[in-house]
Amino acid sequence: MELQPILLRAHHGLCICFFQGRGYSPAFTAHMAAVIRRLEQNPPVQLTDQTDCICACCPNNHGNVCESAAKVAAYDRAVLDLCGLKPGDRLPYRAFHQRVQQAVLAAGLRQQVCGDCQWTSLCRG
Ligand code: SF4
Ligand code: SF4
Repeated sequence: MELQPILLRAHHGLCICFFQGRGYSPAFTAHMAAVIRRLEQNPPVQLTDQTDCICACCPNNHGNVCESAAKVAAYDRAVLDLCGLKPGDRLPYRAFHQRVQQAVLAAGLRQQVCGDCQWTSLCRG
């Protein structure tokens, strides 16, 4: 039986790479850490430019709409474009992670994707 994919905003593929246990609230941070532990098991993910499993515990999520919806959707689209993917695509998490690593981080394009995010100073590397 195929596993139900985990819904994942494309730009969260970047945030996960830099996660240091900080976030919008203690509940958000604990939930994000739990999601990352699940992703480390390499489940299938379904990519989106809408709210996802990480947004589910975010105080900025109002009725399944991020209060910075336009800004973060642009991050999602940038990651998807660079990785040659589109919303709705499904693939194993590790395969997505590798594309993010190669097409965005190794290419030196992280700042171009989300350089105006409030956390950007934590996400250098
Ligand atoms: S700068 Fe913001 S959007 Fe970009 S990886 Fe860091 S937390 Fe995520
Ligand atoms: S700030 Fe927006 S995109 Fe980021 S986790 Fe919260 S609701 Fe989701």
